[in-house]
Amino acid sequence: MGLSGWLGGRELSKALFIKTWGCQMNVYDSARMADVLAPVGYRPVDRAEDADMVILNTCHIREKAAEKVFSELGRLRALKRRKAMAGGRLIIAVAGCVGQAEGAEIMARAPYVDMVFGPQTFHRLPEMVAAADAAPGQGVLDTEFPAESKFDFLPEEQGTQGISAFLAIQEGCDRFCTYCVVPYTRGAEFSRPAADVLAEARRLLKGGAVEITLLGQNVNAWKGEAPGGGDWGLGRLLREVAQLDGLGRLRYTTSHPSDMDDDLIAAHAEIPALMPFVHLPVQSGSDRILAAMNRRHTADDYRRVVEKLRASRPDIGLSSDFIVGFPGETEADFADTLRLIEETGYAQAYSFKYSPRPGTPAAGLDDAQIPDAVKTERLAALQALVNTQQLAFNRAMVGRTMAVLFDRPGRRPGQLLGRSPYMQAVHAEAGPERLGTLAEVRIGGAHANSLSGRLVEAANRDAGPPLEASA
Ligand code: SAM
Ligand code: SF4
Repeated sequence: MGLSGWLGGRELSKALFIKTWGCQMNVYDSARMADVLAPVGYRPVDRAEDADMVILNTCHIREKAAEKVFSELGRLRALKRRKAMAGGRLIIAVAGCVGQAEGAEIMARAPYVDMVFGPQTFHRLPEMVAAADAAPGQGVLDTEFPAESKFDFLPEEQGTQGISAFLAIQEGCDRFCTYCVVPYTRGAEFSRPAADVLAEARRLLKGGAVEITLLGQNVNAWKGEAPGGGDWGLGRLLREVAQLDGLGRLRYTTSHPSDMDDDLIAAHAEIPALMPFVHLPVQSGSDRILAAMNRRHTADDYRRVVEKLRASRPDIGLSSDFIVGFPGETEADFADTLRLIEETGYAQAYSFKYSPRPGTPAAGLDDAQIPDAVKTERLAALQALVNTQQLAFNRAMVGRTMAVLFDRPGRRPGQLLGRSPYMQAVHAEAGPERLGTLAEVRIGGAHANSLSGRLVEAANRDAGPPLEASA
C-alpha cells in the first residue's frame, strides 16, 4: 500500500476509468492494470467524469485507431481543466501500443498527459503514479522493454473479468509481417510457463469464469516450460486447462497458419470443451502478396491447414483477417483473395484497408501504395462476400440445439444475450438466474449478426421431444 493511499489510517479510495481499444490482449491488459492499481487505492468506475485517473489503453495497428487517441485526449484535457477549477485533479495516462510507439510525441503534443507507458511496463504503475504525484506536470514516460517479465510482478487477478475470461499465455511476435507494428510495440515473443497459466486459469474459474480464452499475438507459437521440465506446445496446454474443475468452454486466439501443428489440430478432435471455432488469419489469397507480407506460407499451405482442421473437427467454424490494398496488390491478386474466401467458407471475418504504419517495411514501398478509392472498392467487395457467407452460416443453425453461454441481459426485458460455440450472439427469453450459465437453446431465427432461439425446456413444452444437441 503506497502512503498516498492512506489518510489517518483510512484508505482513500480513488476512482479509475480505463478506456480500451483494440485486441483482446488489450482487454486483458486493462483488467491487469486495474489489479495493479487496486493495492494503491484505485477502484474501477464506468465514466471518465467520475474518475481521478483515466487510462487510455490504445491500439496502434491502423492509423485510424491511433488518431482516435488524440481526439479522446482533447476531450480529457477539457475534463482535467474543469476538475482543476473545482479544486480536484485528474491523472491522464496513455497506455498500450500508441503509448509504446509514440510516447515522446504524445508528451510533446499533449503536455497535460501525466503518464505514458507501453504494454510491457504497466506492472510499474504504482511507481509511475508516485512519480506523477511527486512532480505534477512533469510527465512520466516508461516505454522501455524491461529485462524482467511483467507477469512475474503482476499481483493475482482481482476477479474483474467475469464469466468469460481472457488469459494471456504468450506475448509479442517474432514474425515481422511487413505491414505490422506488433513486433515493435509488444516486443519479442515470450511464452509464460505452463504452471503459471494453469494457476491463473484455476483462479479465474474459482472467481466465476465459465469460459477461458487463451491469448497471444501469435498464440499457437506458445512453447512454455512444462511443470516437470521440458516444454509443452499449445495442444498439450489446452488438454491440461480443459481438465480444470469448472471449465465449460475453452478457446484460443490469434493463431498463425504456419504454427498450426498436428498436435494442436488433433486437440480439436479430443477436447469437448474446446470450441469448434478458430480464428485463423490469412490476410491475402495471393502468393505474391503473402510473400511481400513476409507471411512465410502460401495460399495452398493455408488451404491444407483448413483441410486438416476440418478433418479433425468436421463442424469447425472459421474466421480470418484480411488486408486489402497491400502495396502492389493487383486486381488479379485481389481475385485470388476472393477465390480463397469462396473456397474456404467463413463463419465470420475481419477485413481492413492496408494502413501504412511508420517504421514497418511495407510503409516504405512508396511507388506501390494503392489509392484509397481502390482499397474502398475492394474492401466493399470482400465484405459483401464475407457477409453472404456469414448469413448462410447463421441460417444453417436454424433448427439446431446448441449450448449458449449467457453473459449479459438482452435488449428487451426478460431476454438474455449469450454466445454460441461459434461466437454468434444469441438472444433468448430467459430469467436472470441463467446469467453466467450454459444452457441449451433451440435456434429459431438467423440474422446477419445474431441468432435467436428458445431455451430447450421452453421449446420442448411447445414442440414435443427434445432435439439432439448438434454443436
Ligand atoms: N497476430 C495476428 C496474425 O498474425 O494474424 C493478428 C495481429 S493484428 C493485432 C490483427 C490484424 O490487424 C491482422 O491480422 C491484420 O489483418 C490487421 N493489420 C495489422 N497491421 C495492419 C495494417 N498495417 N493495415 C491494415 N491492417 C492491419
Ligand atoms: Fe503482426 Fe504478423 Fe506477428 Fe501477427 S504474425 S502479430 S500480423 S507480425
